[in-house]
Parts: sequence; C-alpha cells; structure tokens
Amino acid sequence: MAEFIPDPSCADPQDQQSLSVDQARAQIEQLLKPVSSWQKLALREALGQVLHAPIISPLQVPPHNNSAMDGYAIHGKAIQEQPFTLKMVGTAYAGQPFNGKVGVNECVRIMTGAMVPEECDTVVMQEQVEAEGDSITVHGQQNPGQNVRMAGEDIQQGDSVLPAGHRITPADMGLIASLGIGEIRVKRRLRVAFFSTGDELRSIGEPLKAGQIYDSNRYTLYGMLKRLDADVLDMGVVPDERVALKQALRQAAEEADVVITSGGVSVGDADYVKEILAELGQVNFWKIAMKPGRPLAFGQVNNALFFGLPGNPVSVMVTFYQFVQPALKKMAGENDHPLPLMQVETASKIRKRPGRFEFQRGILFEDDKGQLKVQTTGQQGSGILRSMSVANCFILIDEHCNGIEAGTIVTVQPFAGLV
Ligand code: AMP
Ligand code: MG
Repeated sequence: MAEFIPDPSCADPQDQQSLSVDQARAQIEQLLKPVSSWQKLALREALGQVLHAPIISPLQVPPHNNSAMDGYAIHGKAIQEQPFTLKMVGTAYAGQPFNGKVGVNECVRIMTGAMVPEECDTVVMQEQVEAEGDSITVHGQQNPGQNVRMAGEDIQQGDSVLPAGHRITPADMGLIASLGIGEIRVKRRLRVAFFSTGDELRSIGEPLKAGQIYDSNRYTLYGMLKRLDADVLDMGVVPDERVALKQALRQAAEEADVVITSGGVSVGDADYVKEILAELGQVNFWKIAMKPGRPLAFGQVNNALFFGLPGNPVSVMVTFYQFVQPALKKMAGENDHPLPLMQVETASKIRKRPGRFEFQRGILFEDDKGQLKVQTTGQQGSGILRSMSVANCFILIDEHCNGIEAGTIVTVQPFAGLV
C-alpha cells in the first residue's frame, strides 16, 4: 500500500507537490486496463456501445449498378453530338428490374435506385429528354457512364467497415443495417459505482434544515456516466464518518470496475476520503495544479479504480471531463480520439493568476461580422454550476498565464466533442 503525502495547504498558489494536468493524465493512463469480455447485442441495443470486433461486410454496397436519377438507361456508345432518338423498350423501377434485352438504339425508362439493365452503362436525366409514344429524343451534352452508381462503389465484400474499439453512432447503425447485419459483438459495459460524501447533503424530497443543501453531484455524475453508456450504481449520500465511508468504499469496489466519489478530498477536518483510500487500497495522487479541481484523489481499491473528485459542483464536472471520461473510454475498450481544440479570439478580458492550469467556462458565439469568438461565462467560482449550464466550451489557460486581454487568441475545447 502506497503512502500519501498529507496536508499541503490548498491556499498555496504555487504548490510544488501538485502534479501538472499532463502528469496526472499520464499517471492515470498507466493503470487503465480495457475490458476484455464481450456480448452479442441486437443492433438497436448497441447504440453507444463499443465494438469488440470489426464489422466485415458480407456483401457489396450497392449490390448492383443502379440509377442515380429518374431518366432513361442507355448504351454509352449510342451517344451522339446532335439530338438523337432511341426506342423505349420497357421500364425499370426500384426493386423491379427490367428483365429484357436492350439494343444499342434502344433505352429503358428508369427510376432512381432501379437496377441498370446489364447492357446499359449510362443514364440520361429525364429533364434532357423529349418523349413521344415509345420514342425518346435526347438533347444536350451526355457522357458515357454518367448517373450510374456502380455495384460495390461504397463497400466491397470483405471490407472492414468499422474497426474494433469504435463506439456505435446512429450513422453506424444505419451502415451496419445496410449490410444486413442484425446482431453485433460489443464490449461489456463498464460498471461504475458512485456516491456523494458530506454531512450537509440531502437528497431530493428531503426537507432542508439550516446549513444543508441538496446533493447535485450525483445527478451530474449520473448524466455524464449515462452518456458514456456506463452501467451505473448510485450509492446515495454517505456522511463524513470514517466507518460509513469505509463500508461504502469497500462495497463499491467489490461491485464496480470504477468507483467515483465527490467531496471530502480537501484538507478540512472531516475530509476522510484520502485516508480511507490509503487504508483500503492505494492512493496515487491527490493534488493537481489546476482550477477548478485541485484536490483529486486517484487510486485503486482491489481491482477497482478510484476517483475521489472534489465536492464543488463545477470541479466535479471539470475533473470528470478532463480525467475520468478519457479513462472510462479507454477502459471500455474505445479507441483514442483526443477532443478537438480550437483557437479563437476572446471578446472578454479573462482574469487569471499564474500557478494553475485553468478550465474556465466559455461561450462560443458569432459576432456581428459572423466571426466565431469566445467570452467567459462571468464569475468562475467552482460552486457556480450555472456556469456549466450556460457554457458551450472550456477556455484552456496555461498555468503560467497572468490574465488575458480582450482580442487575444485563446484555446477552447467545445463541449460538443465531449459526448
Ligand atoms: P468538500 O470537497 O467536501 O469540502 O466540498 C466542497 C464544497 O462542495 C462544499 O461547499 C460542499 O457543500 C459542496 N458539495 C460537496 N458535495 C456536494 C454535492 N454532492 N452536491 C452539491 N454540493 C456539494
Ligand atoms: Mg464535504
């Protein structure tokens, strides 16, 4: 069991014992083991799940040459410079092919998606054709091969269409369905247990006495975990008592792959989480030079990974998105996709003191010239959860930075990439 370093003050701005954000990420990375077991699921059940094996196409898409237009299927070699006339010998509908033969001076009326007759290689759009009885006259410039979608032009039989480790999106569901595949192999879902710590916390439905507040972190965590398709175990609120915390942590670690708590990791008199983690397992670190979210306990209890997030509601979200979410994705077997960052001009002055890497809440917007800019959400207190609701991005600010003037280019991480 590793020791933890007790009691450096949270008020100290340039703390030598804090890890940088990158160091903390690297330490977490070392302990991540992707799940290996898998199950078969019906396609519709698999939305948001991670593929265990690549999807290999059993057929070619499209399965046959078909028309991209409503028009007339012809032989490419029948095309002439001047308007030319052909004899119509039948009609091909989507799903109802024309089964006869088509001579060079003949054509078939054809609908979008209908099979192009074997002898034909070209479709003339109906707007360039004058039809009279069973004779058509073709006008305008035509090119052999035009307006035909070739068999296999999208996917060849045996192609790997989606790799293992890919998380299934709505587009993927349609793609897999287009191959006629109705059941797929996905990784087993991660089981994640979480609870809130704090004597002041009450659950919804309970009356509040003086000094008490409603527990919001369990709701935020539930939402963030559900978006990752984790199998969640909500263990409620645990008071700031050693025995109760130890019991809850032990039970959580028995039942889950990952345990997440909030609160009780700073240096107050009732902040027992780190100590109990050290007694039951191993504490890897608990201070990161970042704001919000400096105290963060990371470790292991038996086979479960443990993240002890700070209690402040914004800190919970920032530390989850920056450390826990990437870890959960990797453990779930998902391939690595770093979140996209953007460089944009800040329209507001940004206050910051040197010493910690900051994740300020920002709003990306278009100015009156249509240029994308960012402004902060205003007050950046780590208890102001509304700042996360109104924000649509984090503004990432380097630890050495000492404030930013309006008009400066800054780095932002849009929330859109976080799900
Ligand atoms: P702590 O990290 O336990 O010292 O908590 C820091 C701050 O976050 C305190 O103001 C707590 O009341 C608040 N807090 C802790 N847990 C929660 C929670 N689950 N929901 C809302 N606020 C919380
Ligand atoms: Mg507390």
